[in-house]
Amino acid sequence: MQAPESGSGAKGWLQRSKDLLSRIDLSGQADTLGRVVHVADGIAFVSGLPDVRLNELLHFETGQTGLAMTLDADGIGAVLLDDPKGIEADTRVTGMAEVVRVPVGPELLGRVVDPLGRPLDGGEAIATGGTEPIERPAPAIIDRALVEDPVETGVLVVDALFALGRGQRELIVGDRATGKTSLAVDVMINQNHSDMICVYVAVGQRTTAIERVIEAVRERGAPERCIFVVASAASPPGLQWIAPAAGMTMAEYFRDRGQNALIVIDDLSKHAATHRQLALLNREPPGREAYPGDIFYLHAHLLERAAHLAPELGGGSLSALPIIETDAGNLSAYIPTNLISITDGQIVLDSRLFAANHRPAVDVGLSVSRVGGKTQKPALRHVSGKLRLDYAQFLELEMFTRFGGISDKRLKSRLVRGERIRALLTQPRFATLRMVDQVALLVALSEGVLDDLPVPIVAKLRAEVSRHLDATRPGIVSSVTESGEISDDDSRALAEEVRNLASRLGSSPGESEHD
Ligand code: ATP
Ligand code: MG
Repeated sequence: MQAPESGSGAKGWLQRSKDLLSRIDLSGQADTLGRVVHVADGIAFVSGLPDVRLNELLHFETGQTGLAMTLDADGIGAVLLDDPKGIEADTRVTGMAEVVRVPVGPELLGRVVDPLGRPLDGGEAIATGGTEPIERPAPAIIDRALVEDPVETGVLVVDALFALGRGQRELIVGDRATGKTSLAVDVMINQNHSDMICVYVAVGQRTTAIERVIEAVRERGAPERCIFVVASAASPPGLQWIAPAAGMTMAEYFRDRGQNALIVIDDLSKHAATHRQLALLNREPPGREAYPGDIFYLHAHLLERAAHLAPELGGGSLSALPIIETDAGNLSAYIPTNLISITDGQIVLDSRLFAANHRPAVDVGLSVSRVGGKTQKPALRHVSGKLRLDYAQFLELEMFTRFGGISDKRLKSRLVRGERIRALLTQPRFATLRMVDQVALLVALSEGVLDDLPVPIVAKLRAEVSRHLDATRPGIVSSVTESGEISDDDSRALAEEVRNLASRLGSSPGESEHD
């Protein structure tokens, strides 16, 4: 087939080859190569590579990547981001002259990825428009606006007593198995009626626990507005180490485009432990509780990135719900005190309350929200004002009156009210309440509607109130939801509806649905 062209074609081909050859650089080339000295526990110690900078990516000839974590005179301590299989002494290493970057963009929504943005859900590779470094500076003070809008969590005890604002960082802290993850998942699920984008970062969690979270959100929430960044306990320590920062970068994409995002980091105690492990293996000097000295900086820098941006920058927000685990309720251990001082408040979960079935097991004495209270909608703020004091007084009174009967009428009524408050604040999982439902229940409480009811009816009321209000008072529901305010007449009407519902539930136990 080529014969007819061969005359001029052969000439052209020769010329082209010559051109090509002249462009090839055949002079000597120097390449900086490092070599692995030893490798263990997710760390490789590399000699050579004098030009590598801190946090630079390293490429191992066996295909893995690593991250320069410490630079010493005699070598580099590199954290491996992949399975170390195949890496051994003398494996060749090159510096890549760039830092770790992750893909960002709306293409990540609905996906389960590892901290480098590689899919874990069996789906196709994620092709986003761009990448961003995982370490980015936090917005300066001048670039921030006041925290003004609420994050509606749907959990009554949080919304009424420890309200969260968009741009706030609120710590969830508690012992093992006290419902920390469940609380955060409820908050994420409740965003199915809002515009919030949720990023769930799992660090060092069991795979089953992570699967449960993803399943719960897929089943009940808005998974198409969620990103799951997963570094399970089985992932290389390097991946667990970068996971929170990677999640932040993915969430910041939306914050910087004027949208609202929420990041849950589950949990930072595991992250701190991984940091300590890697730092000690890299022979960094141990400090308090053997954590290296920069652990405070690491977490402070990470959480500073949550912010409500000024209107000139689009007015987007990134709220953070970091989770940490305490040991026997010890809030004064190193990592909890650090994080309590970094964040704008904490929700403390107590194992005794949890065991007594008061769930979510929020300790109202130790919990606090330092900025969110101002973001509460007026309708809710109005009715939740006295709640905290009433409840705190009740808890104290209850302790004193545990052993003896009490005859004082005033005290008795306080105890009655307190028991109703507790029954209201006890809320099962996946049963979040809208703001208007919360308002209705709290108005009814303060009007004394609940005082005559047996305590078990209160739980039923909470479960039914949403449907009942939609059926009977759709006008008030939509006006309160839209304006965030409520008139006195509407308040009374809501209290009346709660009373009606209560008498219906009370008169026909177990048949409420068929009325
Ligand atoms: P871990 O320390 O293992 O991470 P955790 O503190 O995250 O635990 P969860 O896994 O969220 O705790 O919850 C522990 C158990 O408590 C789960 O079985 C969950 O279903 C139950 N639970 C959590 N919150 C509630 C609630 N509000 N009502 C009823 N059960 C709950
Ligand atoms: Mg958990």
